[in-house]
Amino acid sequence: MLKVENLHVSYGHIEVLKGISFTVEMGEIVALIGGNGAGKTTTLATVSGLLRPASGKIFWKGEVIHTTAVETIVAAGIAHCPEGRRIFPGLTVRENLLTGTASRSYKKSEVEDDLALVFELFPRLKERIKQGGWSLSGGEQQMLAIGRALMSRPNLLMLDEPSLGLAPIVIEQVFDKIVELNRRTGLGVLLVEQNSAMALEIAARAFVLETGTITLSGPSATLADDPRVREAYLGG
Ligand code: ATP
Repeated sequence: MLKVENLHVSYGHIEVLKGISFTVEMGEIVALIGGNGAGKTTTLATVSGLLRPASGKIFWKGEVIHTTAVETIVAAGIAHCPEGRRIFPGLTVRENLLTGTASRSYKKSEVEDDLALVFELFPRLKERIKQGGWSLSGGEQQMLAIGRALMSRPNLLMLDEPSLGLAPIVIEQVFDKIVELNRRTGLGVLLVEQNSAMALEIAARAFVLETGTITLSGPSATLADDPRVREAYLGG
């Protein structure tokens, strides 16, 4: 479904992605793990069209998208939940969710159906529907960021560090929701995480990114047993 081919991305003269290739198949959860500054956020930003590659190709459902406008990429089915959630603190929960529909024109009834699905998945958001985004806990904000991404009816959800700044119990709740969402709707997930243990637990396959190069890849269970991964990312 998503195919990234020999992708090179630079900030000015500094090359941050040095020819990475990977795929995400329909309905699959794939994790991209790696340390600080490895290029994970850059990878997601390039797939979603916020950054343009110096060279390489990105295909989505067989079509080239690395030259496509951001809103067209969203409308084609790729949703990006950025690092730090970036919800709108001054808007209510409902208003935040509605910003996720901006990429295409929906009938009112379709929007209501999508809201109903989000509230079914995240009942806490329904309870807080009229509250300002600022008043939500970190975990609720993460749920809201995911809910907002779902409003564009994606086939692929890209999540950048959903565990960031959350307590362990809340991280578990967020990850349970990601799995539930994947199982119930068949949504593909590209998960960027520094919490490698959790990411490997829910992903079918994973890639290790080190200073702009994919150094290891394979089924998550195999990677979780790999001494290099255990040493560098799973605390030995
Ligand atoms: P983190 O988890 O810390 O965000 P990451 O793996 O997501 O790490 P990126 O954010 O993609 O890494 O950053 C990769 C490299 O690119 C880092 O060395 C970073 O300092 C650099 N970088 C990121 N954004 C910019 C920018 N706008 N201008 C210049 N350099 C940047």
